[in-house]
Amino acid sequence: MTFETLGLAPALLRALADNNYTTPTAIQSEAIPLVLAGHDVLGGAQTGTGKTAAFGLPLLQRLAEGAPATVAGKLAGPRKPRALILVPTRELAVQVSESLRAYGRHLRLNVTTIYGGAGMQPQIEQLRRGVDILVACPGRLIDHLERGTAKLDAVEMLVLDEADRMLDMGFLPSIKRILGRVPATRQTLLFSATFEAQIKQLALEFMKSPQQVQI
Ligand code: AMP
Repeated sequence: MTFETLGLAPALLRALADNNYTTPTAIQSEAIPLVLAGHDVLGGAQTGTGKTAAFGLPLLQRLAEGAPATVAGKLAGPRKPRALILVPTRELAVQVSESLRAYGRHLRLNVTTIYGGAGMQPQIEQLRRGVDILVACPGRLIDHLERGTAKLDAVEMLVLDEADRMLDMGFLPSIKRILGRVPATRQTLLFSATFEAQIKQLALEFMKSPQQVQI
């Protein structure tokens, strides 16, 4: 199996070569074609398995292929996030954002990172400048939604990364509020190391015929 046979575009293949990724990991081989085809995906994977690229590469490709709405050739207002990636911790937010920037280096997509324990103002300014991909911790994203500084009505793809950890940290109510603000027509990807009842319930409630990949 190669990244090319998984259906990835040349700009992404070039970024992978830049990063010396030669062979897809198991979760990447399984998940990438499903995400590219537009399916909701429920992925069972721990960190270290390459799960960030498993959702990140096809997410970047789908956003790059579908251009945002324009009026007379110009973007209709500042760009609102078209992808939202929810993560449990600041460390993971930073790590996922860096990976997406590396994989998307030959594409023109902005990645903005939002987490608690840092000033609101710089985040507000970044959000105002326009965002394509928003990587966020649930608590701080709720703050931005309440202030009206983040808008989720243009989200086409939603990723819940390390969903079990987010639930362990008590983020379920925040996640449900956030899900309520994202268009129902979105594609949803959920990654978790474990699949306890609450995760299954979340998938049942918020995903459409999810395809399961387990490694
Ligand atoms: P993750 O599970 O997404 O945190 O990735 C674990 C580590 O594996 C990260 O340092 C990635 O840069 C690296 N990685 C992911 N996919 C590949 C691949 N196909 N080939 C080589 N390294 C990879």
